[in-house]
Amino acid sequence: MALKKKGRYWYGDGPEDIQAEMQRYSQANAYPATRFAASACSCGRRVFKLETDEDTGAARRTCTACGNVHLMGDSAEYADEAEFENHECVCGAEAFELLSGVALHADSTDVRWYYLGCRCTNCSLVGVFADWKCEGGDAGDFLAAV
Ligand SMILES: [Zn+2]
Ligand SMILES: [Zn+2]
Repeated sequence: MALKKKGRYWYGDGPEDIQAEMQRYSQANAYPATRFAASACSCGRRVFKLETDEDTGAARRTCTACGNVHLMGDSAEYADEAEFENHECVCGAEAFELLSGVALHADSTDVRWYYLGCRCTNCSLVGVFADWKCEGGDAGDFLAAV
């Protein structure tokens, strides 16, 4: 692991660094993320443009290699009412590796809070770009769909 801080931002080498930052962020949010999954396109690539609507609780990723568009987790249920906003890194790039994390209800495998972490493929910035209260059901099913 090689998470490094430069100014206000953290930079890392891979999904394990996104996870480390997400653990810190989610603990500060009082609902620690305990299960994680990285996004991969059906074409096998792992770099995406990302759009989210935190108020509605929906995220949409677009593969930069093949253009496939995917609604993440349970987002398909909320996409009709979502107003998606595109994410841009502080360096200006719009291509990210994505790691999802969830906090669970006590004594349950049901999702309570959803965290969406990114690593910029241009400058290596890592961060939790979006998070929301989420009733996404079983964490295994939810994370299989990110
Ligand atoms: Zn693809
Ligand atoms: Zn960047």
